[in-house]
Amino acid sequence: MSRPDPFDPWRLALGPIRELSQWWRWWGSTQDCMMAVHADAAGLAKRRDARLAGLVAHAAANSPIYRELYRDIDPGRASLQSLPVVRRQTLMHRFDDWVTDRSIRLDEVRRFISDPARIGEPYRDRYVLWTSSGSTGEPGIFVQDEASLSVYEALLSTRFSAREHAESLWQTLAVGGRMAMLAAIDGHYAGVVTWERLRRRNPLLHACARTFSVLQPIGELVEALNAFEPRFIASYPTTMLLLADERRANRLRVAPQTIWCGGETLADAERARIESVFECRVFQDYGASEAMAIAFDCGCGHLHLNCDWVILEPVDAHYRPVPAGTASTTVLLTNLANRVQPIIRYDLGDSITMRASPCPCGSPLPALTVDGRRDDILCFVTPGGRSVRLLPLAVETAVEEGTGLARFQVIQIADDAVSVRFAPPAGTSRNAAWRRIRRALGDYLVAQGLGDVAVNRDEQVPRADPVSGKFRQVIRGPGVDSRP
Ligand SMILES: [Zn+2]
Repeated sequence: MSRPDPFDPWRLALGPIRELSQWWRWWGSTQDCMMAVHADAAGLAKRRDARLAGLVAHAAANSPIYRELYRDIDPGRASLQSLPVVRRQTLMHRFDDWVTDRSIRLDEVRRFISDPARIGEPYRDRYVLWTSSGSTGEPGIFVQDEASLSVYEALLSTRFSAREHAESLWQTLAVGGRMAMLAAIDGHYAGVVTWERLRRRNPLLHACARTFSVLQPIGELVEALNAFEPRFIASYPTTMLLLADERRANRLRVAPQTIWCGGETLADAERARIESVFECRVFQDYGASEAMAIAFDCGCGHLHLNCDWVILEPVDAHYRPVPAGTASTTVLLTNLANRVQPIIRYDLGDSITMRASPCPCGSPLPALTVDGRRDDILCFVTPGGRSVRLLPLAVETAVEEGTGLARFQVIQIADDAVSVRFAPPAGTSRNAAWRRIRRALGDYLVAQGLGDVAVNRDEQVPRADPVSGKFRQVIRGPGVDSRP
């Protein structure tokens, strides 16, 4: 794909018009999001139902996959529960028939996201692309249209209570403050794409915001953060827990005013530990590559579902609804904001529990908790007796990016050994896949000072936990010490 020509006069002329239209769209979404939280349950349901009817009709008319799925259904009359459940693997295998812009092609999309230099760049001038990790076995690629992006931004700017506690951009700049995102930053993942997109569009943010890779050794990350001195940090709970230990040991010297955690489950005790060590508020959100801004922390410790833009159906293993107060086996997601790649009754794989009673904060949005959406932190001991802890997401990303494999499990079996289960993709021999895994994981471990850790081949296929039914990619085996 050729890169856009910056001197194209048509592009230059259309740029300000597009910016104005995006701003106007964002303003409309913001007004709607603000008004919706003052509505009662019936008012929220009315917004949700109108959007659902429009989305289902649009998908049936413009997405060949949904046209097939809904061929015996009248989209104008069907209830949500009568629509079939969809899964990532099936949809990804027919990506070109999934998207409603019939000119989008998977091969072109793959070329775009294979270039890290394009992270945060618009695709075809009007879409944003991101990819999910393969933690459920099949990496997904997601196309966002301008309408969905304006909804995500409007929800964040009107409903996320962290904004009330964070300094404004101006205040941050006035005190020389900076904003840091700690994540896997070399791929087109939703968080980093959104961060880079905002930086590209806002010169002030460009100057004060930076991303840091969680794949680097923790000592290097600590040094980089000490030099950057961020006032605002966004990252995964597991990263913040590791950094809390570094702060407690006086190696990390940053004093953030706000910490934003996302991407994994954050237990109450862990939140309290991070808040106590950093002496600041910690906020969390619940989002997915399939729908950003699903639910936000209200400040009371609960996540509130943005139910006018997202539908969550907590269900058991047979897709039967489970009542409030009961943990679901999985959850069916419907994203009412995005029409270019419809997500309707999509098996997301997360276990959630809807709160049975209203939240003390008084929000009309339903409250929920997300259960067990997390892999394990691995802890190794070097021959010199030094303890080194590795983030699950960093281990997963190192293998995934180094091998291109999606279906694998890294299991720590001793203080100085891991074993790897894997399923090679069609056309790749097991031995060839294993050589790639051993090289990628070995290189990563050497970079962390863990060159002595043995990487063993496990002939079992990757599988879900027999008790929870959850597929986890990075696991600390039974009996392996987790202490820092
Ligand atoms: Zn609340």
